[in-house]
Amino acid sequence: TTPLDVERIRDEFPILSRRVGGDVTTPGEGPGDETPLVYLDNAATSQTPDRVVDTIADYYRSYNANVHRGIHSLSQEASVAYEEAHDRVAEFVGANGREEIVFTPGTTEGMNLVAYAWGLAELGPGDEVVLTEMEHHASLVTWQQLCKRTGAEVKYIPVDEQGYLDMDAAAEMVTDDTKMVSVVHVSNTLGTVNPIADLADLAHDHDAYVFVDAAQSVPNRPVDVDDLGADFLAFSGHKMCGPTGIGALYGREHILEEMQPYLYGGDMIRKVTYEDSTWEDLPWKFEAGTPNIAGGIALAEACDYLDEVGLERIETHERMLTAYAYDRLTEFDDVEVYGPPGDDRGGLVAFNLDGVHAHDLSSIVNDHGVAIRAGDHCTQPLHQKMGVPASVRASFYLYNTREEVDVLVDAVDDARRLFA
Ligand code: PMP
Repeated sequence: TTPLDVERIRDEFPILSRRVGGDVTTPGEGPGDETPLVYLDNAATSQTPDRVVDTIADYYRSYNANVHRGIHSLSQEASVAYEEAHDRVAEFVGANGREEIVFTPGTTEGMNLVAYAWGLAELGPGDEVVLTEMEHHASLVTWQQLCKRTGAEVKYIPVDEQGYLDMDAAAEMVTDDTKMVSVVHVSNTLGTVNPIADLADLAHDHDAYVFVDAAQSVPNRPVDVDDLGADFLAFSGHKMCGPTGIGALYGREHILEEMQPYLYGGDMIRKVTYEDSTWEDLPWKFEAGTPNIAGGIALAEACDYLDEVGLERIETHERMLTAYAYDRLTEFDDVEVYGPPGDDRGGLVAFNLDGVHAHDLSSIVNDHGVAIRAGDHCTQPLHQKMGVPASVRASFYLYNTREEVDVLVDAVDDARRLFA
């Protein structure tokens, strides 16, 4: 694959030419802004290219109307665009069609949808849900609480010292009592790329379903639900050049067909009487009320954009930046980097500087214009296991450069000197 033309890509993201560090009470500007922005918080939220912003503006300027029920022209235009956006997202992850793609506000809601619509009906005492120790709270807390309600048991596949799943333990843990195996594809803290297809084989051998948390994989590598063996898969638009407030849940058609609705209301029904109701076809059965129309259409535009750039090329670019950042950061003997080796991980690096709280480190790095995350990254139990309350995390995307990694490393070095 040919390398990305990062300079050209950056032109499509005007925010990347911003300066930061001034008055943060005036979002988007600041007379005191001094430092060029180095945006390395992409695992939290990626930036949005002009064409996706234009798609949203175009919807509101030209054909804003409610979908599904309108006879008038604007409503028809909005409906066609919104429905076709499902086809586009289906194609993006290798689903069979719009029946298998439910638009949600994001990964978290996709997880809750399945936990409540499927889990509440299917789980009970004696049943088991198998997670991993590296699950994001979106999955961990959701299944944990659902199991408390239903009397099912949660089990966690252990993570070893290097940040890989213990697959021998997994083979023991998944049994005929297992009803769901819910696994993060790429860990948002360790960067580990989990062997989803192997876990899916294991689950399917015991007639359990597999839910893939693909929040950190769909944005930056080719993902195909059939290759992974996923029964469900969820991701968020705001991590893949799309807007916030929109994401998608993939589910195998026959499973979604059998599931009860999650939210009730308008647009998800076929026939309603005072006594009873029947449900609309997939995926609309799971999209009650007026959906995020502009968001859905913009998510499809983000898919177009990423496909045009090329997901293989994006993955290669991220691997290069990640390996470089890993190598440079591990040169400091007082920096601890978590997770697998630099050449075997997703596009992020979480680390700590000895004796310095992650928030202080992030704040000094911010003085250099560098945006990184500080905290537990919604993996508190994993941080507890790592023996630290928090860490900082740099995460890369298609528009980042080696020079930006250098700015990060210099900023960390500055913090080392400051706290020495
Ligand atoms: N899972 C993973 C692995 C994530 O990184 C995130 C986002 N931090 C989520 C789930 C939740 O995504 P959202 O907040 O968009 O629902």
